[in-house]
Amino acid sequence: MKSNIFKMKLKKGDMVKVLLGKDKGKNGKIEKIFPRDGSVLVDGVNQYKKHVKSRAANQKSEIVTITKPLVAGKVALICPKCKKPTRVGYKIVKSEKIRVCRKCKAAI
Ligand SMILES: [Zn+2]
Repeated sequence: MKSNIFKMKLKKGDMVKVLLGKDKGKNGKIEKIFPRDGSVLVDGVNQYKKHVKSRAANQKSEIVTITKPLVAGKVALICPKCKKPTRVGYKIVKSEKIRVCRKCKAAI
């Protein structure tokens, strides 16, 4: 059994760029974080259409769009400062751990 919780460098509200998969190249905002399985739900990314059968017998089935979480490793944080997809680094400032952009070194 996997007991270690994935170390999540991303936060809710972060803008990310999709690096892999069907939505490669898309940008989106993180809506939800799932630290347990190391995945993130990104607004407008990894969407699937699903047929939902109507409960009423005489009605047609509906098509709904659902957004599925994707593995955090498939996305890169977009630095709010330099606007580039970057890796997240850490820096200790006054015994507090802060996230920094690996490219422009700005605190994120
Ligand atoms: Zn930056």
